[in-house]
Amino acid sequence: MLQLARLRVKLNDMRTALFVAGLLAHVLSTPARGQDTYAISGTLVTGSEILMSGTMLVRNGRIEAIGAKVKVPPGVTRIALEGVVFPGLVDVHNHLTWNVLPHWSLPHIVKNRYEWQSMSEYAARLENPRNQLFAAGRGCDMQRFAEVKALLGGATSTLGSLGATAVEPQRNKCVEGLARNLDVFSGLYSEQLNSEPLRYVTAPLELDWKEVASLRDGLASGSLRSAIFHVSEGVDAASRREFAMFKAQGLLRSGATIVHGVALQAPDFEEMAVRGVGLVWSPRSNRELYGRTADIRAAKAANVQMAIAPDWSPTGSSGMLAELREAARWNVSNGSLLSDTELLAMVTSNPARLAGVADRVAALKPGMMADFIVLAARGGSPIRALLESIPSSLRLIAVGGRPILGDISLLRRFDPAGPFQTLSVCGRTVGLDAKEQLGGDSWASITNRLDAALRQAGLGLATLDECQ
Ligand SMILES: [Zn+2]
Repeated sequence: MLQLARLRVKLNDMRTALFVAGLLAHVLSTPARGQDTYAISGTLVTGSEILMSGTMLVRNGRIEAIGAKVKVPPGVTRIALEGVVFPGLVDVHNHLTWNVLPHWSLPHIVKNRYEWQSMSEYAARLENPRNQLFAAGRGCDMQRFAEVKALLGGATSTLGSLGATAVEPQRNKCVEGLARNLDVFSGLYSEQLNSEPLRYVTAPLELDWKEVASLRDGLASGSLRSAIFHVSEGVDAASRREFAMFKAQGLLRSGATIVHGVALQAPDFEEMAVRGVGLVWSPRSNRELYGRTADIRAAKAANVQMAIAPDWSPTGSSGMLAELREAARWNVSNGSLLSDTELLAMVTSNPARLAGVADRVAALKPGMMADFIVLAARGGSPIRALLESIPSSLRLIAVGGRPILGDISLLRRFDPAGPFQTLSVCGRTVGLDAKEQLGGDSWASITNRLDAALRQAGLGLATLDECQ
């Protein structure tokens, strides 16, 4: 009996393994609905080089070949693209569900995050309306609105997504399908919701010792590829003190990344570089809240690996492209400290490395996921199309080979059958090819529900982009 029971357990294990393997193959291939195989040609910025007249062959959601002389098999659809193709941008600092709330201009700048979080205006404009939306069961609507907003901003991967709760472990199932949610469901390593090898921590100093030990052990053993922590968000001595406290927790170690670091000074950055700890820079939100941003000159001098990300739209940029514009403006007024290629890396390969996903996304090369964006050409070189983008620059965005959002005429070349939903962004009509990713719901009903609920709070729904 015992042997029979053991055999049954083994068979069950095998069945589970086969089932999981099947699911994994399905998820990791992420086939495009229109066409599983196609070739795009045009100006391609691969990450490491610029192909002025290149071709990229995409099959079952991955890049099969890319180069100046790619042989396209007979019968495969060829799509010549105007503009410039880049890897999809990787956002490693966001708080997605807050991005339904309109921009909040503080009455005055503050010294640290605790100051604005204790303002009555913060409660009235942001915290309370968000809690009311959750209480009304609008969590998935908020997440989907924010993911479309992130895609419009050029991000194919993002984080700070709707999470699970102990009572509702599947509450965030709706995150599957649009952008990659690096903290809860990326579709890169596992088919299982809420099992990503990445932790995103907004208040590391509030963790109990067990949670700290688990993060430390996870990073040491490699079971966690990445842990991203908010530290030193402010300009005063107390904010800098957080760095010492974080270090005392044993978290200043390889695989960890610090978000903000506004109060950090040269010796702190030197220590981060030695220990392999990265920095996420969010210049717009820092400027609006604290009147200045992290000391990027010192971080660069220390050779800290840096990424750029928007934080959230209530006090930051609406998306990655807008935040990159802010960073590029800062760069010009700071003696062009960062080169164009460094800025490109700060929204693609650097954040991908910090998030532990550089083996799958953020570069256009064979074997990688076909996550890419197409931008209208601007400026004197292909990379300037990224650094000088305007809200109407985004022509197309594809995740796992599947074009989700963009110009309707372009979407139709990948998926002639459609039909597409439409969004209005800064007076322009953009197509959305994502009916099933929205749970069969329509974009109009999602935004109408959110807008009606937020009007009751005296606000109204946030815009998808800033048109100025
Ligand atoms: Zn944040």
